[in-house]
Amino acid sequence: MLDRAEPGRLFFAIWPDSTIRARLLEWSEAIRTDPGARPVPGPNLHITLVFLGAQDSPQTEAVRRVATEITWSRASLVLDRIGYWKRSRIIWAGSREGSASLSALAADLYKGLRRIGFRIEERPIVPHVTLYRKAQRRPKWCERSIEWSVEQFCLVKSRLSSAGAQYEVLERWSVSGDVK
Ligand code: ATP
Ligand code: MG
Repeated sequence: MLDRAEPGRLFFAIWPDSTIRARLLEWSEAIRTDPGARPVPGPNLHITLVFLGAQDSPQTEAVRRVATEITWSRASLVLDRIGYWKRSRIIWAGSREGSASLSALAADLYKGLRRIGFRIEERPIVPHVTLYRKAQRRPKWCERSIEWSVEQFCLVKSRLSSAGAQYEVLERWSVSGDVK
């Protein structure tokens, strides 16, 4: 059950289309070693760009305007490595090369947010898709390479529920000039 009293936390993210999602799920299955690790369900797979935390509605409106003003071009990203963070117990898919275009998009979002008075710590983004939570050990090694051409980013609200994280996409922005 969703807790209606909970305002939810906002973050900017990119969401895979059905093709990328299917490839990520296949990869996730192939690396599984720990039966206790919780796979992230397909609809929840994403890459966080900027995390904003809990925000009220006037702030949310201002945040939407920041995103609307951003000019960006298609970002490309190659997912070609699996990582394990022992402290947070997550297994993720990431990129050896990183993505200059996604970093630029995140930097522009931070810049816009600072302009409207947000004091959030700017973190260099390590683009990654969390595949498992509560993982006690490293996953199996399994090579893949997923080329992801990013044409949209979105503002998402997350809420806690007994069934795990519930994400609601509030708005999507496409590459400048693209009509979607
Ligand atoms: P839950 O916390 O309910 O288990 P979740 O971590 O997916 O699920 P949130 O904590 O709201 O939900 O986080 C939303 C997204 O933002 C996730 O991708 C999460 O990894 C990322 N995130 C959360 N906290 C931070 C933070 N302090 N800095 C950067 N990214 C964060
Ligand atoms: Mg969290």
